[in-house]
Amino acid sequence: MNKCLACHHNLVFNLKRSSHHLYLCHKCGSISTKKIDETSSQYDEKYYLTYYASRDNEMYRECKHLIHDCKVSKGIKILDYGAGSGVLAQVLLDEGYEEVYMYDTSAHSQRYLQKRFPKSDKILTTTKGLKYKFQTIFITDVISHLDEVDQVVTELHSKLLDTGGCIIIRTPIYSKVLNLLLYTLSWTFRGKFDDILLFTSTRFCLFTLRGIQHLTNRHNLHIMEFKKKVQYPFNPGNTKIKKTVFSTFYFFCSLISKYNQAILIVRKK
Ligand SMILES: [Zn+2]
Repeated sequence: MNKCLACHHNLVFNLKRSSHHLYLCHKCGSISTKKIDETSSQYDEKYYLTYYASRDNEMYRECKHLIHDCKVSKGIKILDYGAGSGVLAQVLLDEGYEEVYMYDTSAHSQRYLQKRFPKSDKILTTTKGLKYKFQTIFITDVISHLDEVDQVVTELHSKLLDTGGCIIIRTPIYSKVLNLLLYTLSWTFRGKFDDILLFTSTRFCLFTLRGIQHLTNRHNLHIMEFKKKVQYPFNPGNTKIKKTVFSTFYFFCSLISKYNQAILIVRKK
């Protein structure tokens, strides 16, 4: 039996597509995806190269807001877990934070980080055997891309986070209604637009508010702050029709949903 990645409820509804299965959790409303062809779960380097380059300025502004919003103290060790293109680290360094460490499991991202910060000795290639811990860990736009989300969250709070430190999680979240709509659309269009509506090539879970709460409760994490935001997502359509479908869909989403992104500041209980 497959389990919901967010709340661990046994999943019943299942849509089989050519490259993935889609499960809609009727307890928390999150959508979990399971890749059929394992290679499709690997991030496509080409896609991410374009993504990084085309969104750098926009992501820079978002990260600047995030840091100011979360009132991160200076003079502490910070880890950007799943650093990607390093844009968050870049903002932190530009804002005068000095102890900024970066980690990403993707070899592609590690190369990107080395190029962006050629003199840095704070790009970690592993998190094993570190002799220090971090007072703040950022994990932004990462958890929805993990098929082993529990493993990573456990590592963060049990191995990497210093006593009294906090984890800042940013992730897309959809309402239950929106996820139900997405699931229905996948069924109606036989999965034709799953890659742009559900980002199935890169995402494993489309969390709901309840799903996220289940995840933090399971890990004994206390939510200090929970902000819900509206963020127009990157349009991943590679053809005119896909771009139009995406834009139209998100226009309707903004009418029925008051948020699509969550920022949580959590501490160990
Ligand atoms: Zn669930």
